[in-house]
Amino acid sequence: MPEKKVKCMVCGKAIETSGSICQRCQESIRGEAVGKRKKVGAAADKAMKKHGQKPPNK
Ligand SMILES: [Zn+2]
Repeated sequence: MPEKKVKCMVCGKAIETSGSICQRCQESIRGEAVGKRKKVGAAADKAMKKHGQKPPNK
């Protein structure tokens, strides 16, 4: 049976470790996820503040 070469799904480079993406892409994706989470949190906070600032009745 031939050795199965795994290539990174993101950059296409051969991966030595197990997984579908290389470590570098894994880290970048993790960073993106964290940034997204932060972004979403900030947006939610902003929306809440906006909502709170506006009085219920004009
Ligand atoms: Zn990669």
